[in-house]
Amino acid sequence: MIHPLKSGPPASGLLSATEQDALRRDAADPGRRELFLIPPADGGGYPESAYLAGNSLGLQPRATQAELLEDLASWARLGVEGHLEAGRPWLPYHGLLTAPAARLVGALPEETVIMNSLTVNLHLLMVSFYRPRGGRTKIVIEDTAFPSDSYAVRSQARFHGLDPDTAVVRLGDGREVLDFLEREGETVALVMLGGVNYLTGELMDIPAITAAGHAAGAVVGWDLAHAAGNVPLRLHDWGPDFAAWCSYKYLNSGPGALGGVFVHQRHLGDPGLQRFEGWWSTEQSTRFRMDPVSRPPASADAWQISNPPIYAMGPVRTSLNLFDQAGMTELRARSVRLTGYLESLLDEVTPTRPLSVVTPRDPERRGCQLSLRIERGSAAELARRLRLEHGVVTDAREPDIVRIAPTPLYSTYLDCWRAATALAHCVKE
Ligand SMILES: *Cc1c(COP(=O)(O)O)cnc(C)c1O
Repeated sequence: MIHPLKSGPPASGLLSATEQDALRRDAADPGRRELFLIPPADGGGYPESAYLAGNSLGLQPRATQAELLEDLASWARLGVEGHLEAGRPWLPYHGLLTAPAARLVGALPEETVIMNSLTVNLHLLMVSFYRPRGGRTKIVIEDTAFPSDSYAVRSQARFHGLDPDTAVVRLGDGREVLDFLEREGETVALVMLGGVNYLTGELMDIPAITAAGHAAGAVVGWDLAHAAGNVPLRLHDWGPDFAAWCSYKYLNSGPGALGGVFVHQRHLGDPGLQRFEGWWSTEQSTRFRMDPVSRPPASADAWQISNPPIYAMGPVRTSLNLFDQAGMTELRARSVRLTGYLESLLDEVTPTRPLSVVTPRDPERRGCQLSLRIERGSAAELARRLRLEHGVVTDAREPDIVRIAPTPLYSTYLDCWRAATALAHCVKE
């Protein structure tokens, strides 16, 4: 149900597109909003917020709570026997998530595992895939890398006895990465970039950069925090060595949800790879023989260490099922239409105001997020006003970026119209 404005519109008339037009588009091109719990609006006269912050924390699917309670009830009813006798037995539980996660990122099931959280997984993957040797020591990241990734690669460099100021190379964009690989590729041990940049919303050319990294003799890994569930991915075919993503942004699995890991098939079962192991790294069938030496399976499961948190896996399972039902191809098609609509509205607002969209205009070079740079005032203050005065939830990255992400599962054309109208209202010409 999409609710039109109830009280007098404070900000209508600022755009040539009308609220009626947005509502007509929603009727013709609906998402799956009814499957989600939409937070109420803080202000603006609408009952529901225009929630455009799914790039930061996705909304809760209605199905999540009941399924989580089922898992809790198994513990109450079965105690330790739940490992084997729960409706979804705990011992092989993570396996329920593997196939839908693999479909989501275009991987083989054996290349995929859901475990831990994102930065932890990046570290575990770098244990295997960042092996500086001789003159090949550098890690290439993007200058606008998410801080956690920057800290992770710098600490990995230090772990190997290297100076992070020289070992970590920060580059501006995909073009600069390709140029650097051409010029100094023999010094690069690892290229590790965000598939969709968290700040600018730019979608990298993942297959081209992966191929260039490999041609230079480097290992290539991708942080897909802002790409998984946002854009279609074909990781197996594109061939990076590894990738990792989180599940609380576009994947709607809840704050701190378990992340995903991809390790390309060509590395599976390679006894030469270094890896940190624990009892969940060993073959499931022989785990309870309690052998002193592990026998890791030839799959991404070998990167698991501990027995996983069951109540954290349920919400990921619920969410991945939604993606399976909706299909990433269909979701992407609606996403391109929604973001294109938002962009067309912002085109009316930005020329006369100290605002500009920094995300690429080409839909092939972005996901659903549009990032606005504000030239005066604080981005956080603007995001606060959008929320409290208009019920429009965006998110700010200080000092000057406001990110607006219509997500195709639950965002509406009305949400986009409300966001553009509220912006026009809050930012003076
Ligand atoms: C969201 C995000 C993170 C967060 O890391 P956690 O380990 O899940 O807290 C890391 N890197 C990128 C690129 C992100 O977008």
